[in-house]
Parts: sequence; C-alpha cells; structure tokens
Amino acid sequence: MLENKAQIFIVDDSPININFLGSALEDDYDIRASTSGKDALLFLEENTPDLILLDVMMPNMDGYQLIKKIKNNNKYINIPVIFVTSLDDSSSELKGFKLGAVDYITKPISPELVKIRIKNHLLLKQQHQQIFKQHTLFESVFEAISDGVIVYDEENRVTAINSNMTNLWGNIIDTDGVVGKLIQDVFTDDLLPVIDHDKEDIRALSRYIMEPLTVSTVDGIIALDDEKYYHYFGAPLEREDVTQGGVLCFKDLSKEINLQKSLEDMAIRDELTSLYNRRYFNTIAEREMFNSKRYGTMLGVLMVDIDYFKKVNDTWGHSIGDAVLVAVAKTMNEQIRNVDFCFRYGGEEFIILLPNITESGLIDAGKRIMRNIKMLKIEKDIQVTVSIGGSSTESLSSNDRDTMDNVVNLADDALYSAKGNGRDRMYLAGNNQAIINN
Ligand SMILES: [Mg+2]
Repeated sequence: MLENKAQIFIVDDSPININFLGSALEDDYDIRASTSGKDALLFLEENTPDLILLDVMMPNMDGYQLIKKIKNNNKYINIPVIFVTSLDDSSSELKGFKLGAVDYITKPISPELVKIRIKNHLLLKQQHQQIFKQHTLFESVFEAISDGVIVYDEENRVTAINSNMTNLWGNIIDTDGVVGKLIQDVFTDDLLPVIDHDKEDIRALSRYIMEPLTVSTVDGIIALDDEKYYHYFGAPLEREDVTQGGVLCFKDLSKEINLQKSLEDMAIRDELTSLYNRRYFNTIAEREMFNSKRYGTMLGVLMVDIDYFKKVNDTWGHSIGDAVLVAVAKTMNEQIRNVDFCFRYGGEEFIILLPNITESGLIDAGKRIMRNIKMLKIEKDIQVTVSIGGSSTESLSSNDRDTMDNVVNLADDALYSAKGNGRDRMYLAGNNQAIINN
C-alpha cells in the first residue's frame, strides 16, 4: 500500500515539528524526514520524493541554502518545495518564492490547511507531468513524421517546424530562426518562382501562403528542379470551430515521380538510340497533322536510311553496327530544331517530323544531316552515308487524302528514288532532281 502513497519529505531541525507534521500527514502520505540540510541532500541522492516541506531556520545549512542546491540540480528541479516556517514577514516569504518554492506556510500550522495545500501542489505537479508527457509524445510524433511539417498560429506566425521540413528546405530557405516568423516571410516571393511544376498548383500554394487562414485547404505537386518533386498539403487547425492557425506539409515524391517519368520515357523511346520509338511516332504524327491543318502550316517529313548498313553489320559485327546506329541517331538529333521530332522507325531507318517548316527549310535540314553524318568517324574509322526521302503536307495532290500515311508513303517513295539513283542523296516527293550534299 505504501507504494501508492505520494512521498513527502520533511526537512526540519526540530524533531517536534517533524512529528507534528508527520502525524498530520502519515495517513495519506509516505512520510520521510531529515533534521539537517546535509542529511537531506544525502537522502535526495537515493530518493525522489514527490514534495518537500522545508524549514527555513536550521543550523549550518538553512532552508534557503538547501533550496538553492535542490533547484540547481536537474534531478530535483521538478520536486515542489513548500516552506514551513515561523518567519512570517513578507520579505522572507518573497525570498522563498524567488528561490523556487511553490508555497510558503507560516507557523502556527493548521494541519488541514497544510493537507489541502500539499494536495493541490501534488495535483499541479501531476498535471504538469501529464502535459510534459503529451508534449514529449507530440514532439516525437512530429519528428517521426516522414513529411516536412511547419505549423503556424492564428496570426500566421510559425510555431513549430520539424527536422524533415528543415531537411527538405534547408538549402533553399533559412530554416534557422523560422519559429516566430510570418509564414509569408519564410516562403517568400523570391522562393516561389524557383518552384515550378504545374502552374495552377504553384498559384494555389502561393495564395495559401499569402493568406493561409482565408484558404481552407490546398494540395498539389510542385517541382524544385527537374529532379525534385514535392506534394504539399496545407490546412487550417481548428478546435471547436475556431481556427487556431494552420499546418503546411511537404512530402518528397521525387523517387516516385522520377520512376514514373522514366517508365513513361521507356514506353516512348527506343532503347538503343534513345530516340523516340515508332509507337510514339503515331501519337506525335497525329497531333502534328492536326496542328498543321488547324494552323495551315506545312508539316515536313524526312525518311533517313543508312546506306549499306547490312555491310557494316556483316563486316564488323552487330555491336559495331549498334555503335553506328547510336552515332547516326545522335547526329540527326543534333541537326534538327527543338520543335522537330526524330524517331527510330525500323532497323536502320529513321523518320523526322518537322512541324511548321518551308520547303527550303526541309532541304536544308536534309543537307545538314547528310553532311554531318558523312563527317562522322565511328569506331574502326567507319564512315557511313545516308539516303533521305522528303515529303510534306504540301506534297499531297488534290487526289490524296491528307493523312499522315499518305505523307509518309510519299517520303518512302522519295527515299526509294534516292537509293535507286546512287545513295548519299536526298529526293523530295514529286521532284526528280537529286539533292546532293556538297
Ligand atoms: Mg527550524
């Protein structure tokens, strides 16, 4: 039964006082006592009482000296100390409180009053411990969350930031001394343009940061650069319908989004050359055909085929053949405009889509490609040439339906002419004149 009782430690140089207090309290509490400061300190080394009743006037070490020692030690700092003394002047009382006592009881003592005061202080201590426990729990949860979290009060001032938030933003915002700052001053206008992904998402976040308590919730994805993506979520913190401030969370989605992007990329690219693949050609061709009709612009097509490629494979083997394909693909990709698309169409056959181009632009592109590929020195000093067939939406006669298939067929026919008339040259659909690069 003793274990369940709170322990009260009485320090008084008078055994009579100890007995008096002890007999008043012993039914409710586990009473321990010392008659000197020195003994009290020895006792405290081994015990942690729940409350200390401390006499002021004692020989050698008085109550004031003892409480100083108690309050200077982290181990005892949370033990409430009540002075019990015959010194009833207010300056002695003030001195006691200043030294950290929670209460000051003057003699003569009313046992009932002492009991009630002790009970109240023990209750307070218990409540403090509970709050401290909850706070510690909250802090460890707050830190354990994998998201970066920043919390602010109803005046938009930051009240807490966890270390994941610091890790996410440490390179960009000055996370030191963030607590107390306005949330608008943490995520400044200078910072937000750095973040760029979905324009609507960034606007929503910006609006939220500017006026966090007028916007209910926001969430979206933002990118800090091509590699870093964050999901953000902002919401007010409400208690009994009263807004207490809000919270803004960021989750690092870089891994997931980059994986998704690389999977998407894999689906549309040729593994060997990294050019777009034939399947993706169908998607882009349809879109560009639509744009060509809609805006009345010419859409050009170049079919490019490596001359005598079979001989390269037969002579040097397939790995050298692959090196040739990679080098040719790279060169073609360098010689087209940003708006053009280059696809690996078949084994050694490529197709290039050139939106909004003129006939002379198409010829220039073909010449550049022929010239630069011819200058390539691939492994074993292999040199290759290409033949090109060009066509465009303008090549279609009034009898042709303006479909992509028809434009591609015309380019294919022109390529056939280039191959049949000596290779290393370009033919345009509907034109018998070879375009030679020199
Ligand atoms: Mg005394």
